[in-house]
Amino acid sequence: MTDTTETTGTGTTGRTWRERQAEDLMASYAPALRLLVKGEGCWVEDDEGTRYLDFLGGIAVNSLGHAHPALVAAAGRQAALLVHVSNYFATPSQLELAERLKRITGAGAEGRVYFANSGAEANEAAFKLARRNGDSRRNRILALRNAFHGRTMGALALTGKPALQAPFEPMVPGVEHLEPTVAALEQAMRDDVAALIVEPIQGETGVVPLPDGYLTEARRLTEEHGALLIVDEIQTGIGRTGRWFDHQREGIVPDAVSIAKGIAGGVPLGALVTFGRASRLLQRGDHGSTFGGNPFATTIANAVLDEIERADLLSNAARRGEQIRDVVLGMRSDLVTEVRGRGLLIGVGTTADAAPAIGAAALEHGLIVNAINPTSIRLAPPLIVGDAEIDAFRERFAAALAAA
Ligand SMILES: *Cc1c(COP(=O)(O)O)cnc(C)c1O
Repeated sequence: MTDTTETTGTGTTGRTWRERQAEDLMASYAPALRLLVKGEGCWVEDDEGTRYLDFLGGIAVNSLGHAHPALVAAAGRQAALLVHVSNYFATPSQLELAERLKRITGAGAEGRVYFANSGAEANEAAFKLARRNGDSRRNRILALRNAFHGRTMGALALTGKPALQAPFEPMVPGVEHLEPTVAALEQAMRDDVAALIVEPIQGETGVVPLPDGYLTEARRLTEEHGALLIVDEIQTGIGRTGRWFDHQREGIVPDAVSIAKGIAGGVPLGALVTFGRASRLLQRGDHGSTFGGNPFATTIANAVLDEIERADLLSNAARRGEQIRDVVLGMRSDLVTEVRGRGLLIGVGTTADAAPAIGAAALEHGLIVNAINPTSIRLAPPLIVGDAEIDAFRERFAAALAAA
């Protein structure tokens, strides 16, 4: 039965959806921009029937866009078989996904996979892995200034944003935040470092890539001192930057990779993939999750990875990313100062404080982009984005820049 008051968001109490959000949901999020009711491809639709071109993709999550037939079919099929069984049992889809993740990360036969339900949880597993590296004298974990690794207490301690941490002190101890320079790393690196965790591109900071060559030097220094190199590919991984994982661009082999966001096209799933000796650090009983790796989420992830391979979405991400970059720079707007990022993770640098106005104007013109900070617009469209969507983006983004 369809209740029309429900689709307009007033529910049964006569309140507007905005009132309901304010009165019923925890205040930890900003007021929602729109009430969305459905989507198809790179488009979503709100309760008033207005369509928006989705160039945020659920924050780099909706790899296949919305209502992709492959995802819909897999969800229906698996829901009718098994949704959840607990980790007392294995399921075919879980085993298949682990095998695939070992293959696409290059972790190979020595690799192991731990399944979680979100990015923060994948990084919590990485944190525990670091604590298990060596004895209690190896008690320092290095991370980078402005890094974002999630909001749970361990992940928050890794996050290099004092404003997010301050209200929740004391932090989990042992984490130090460095400038993203090889000199700073050389100075901090000693034999008491358990791990270094880095994002190849800091997405939440406005799409800011690591300096070229940093990962290569980080690999050399961590190896020399017995520290783990953990790469947080939660936002950059699963094809987003035109490769399966962005660190593969420098050809390094890390000790662990954390994955989430795009892996299951919007169904919650996270994973930590370990390499070599790091695969033996967590032992029976050391960690666990009730939902982690359940047959529903892992089936969807397999369907997403299948489709990325079948439709060659890695090449599409690289090619469409270049196209979008050219479109933005071609507008020659005085508000745009630079374009950062790789593939379909794009940061548009703007003049002081212009980004929020551009984001708001874009929404008014039927385009979803993300004003991640006062001087950055983040674009992370679905990996399936094509010519028609890029044409629509050109028109709508130009209108937003003109209006802002
Ligand atoms: C989004 C993100 C996280 C946190 O993921 P959640 O699923 O929100 O917990 C961690 N690291 C990076 C790099 C991210 O982009």
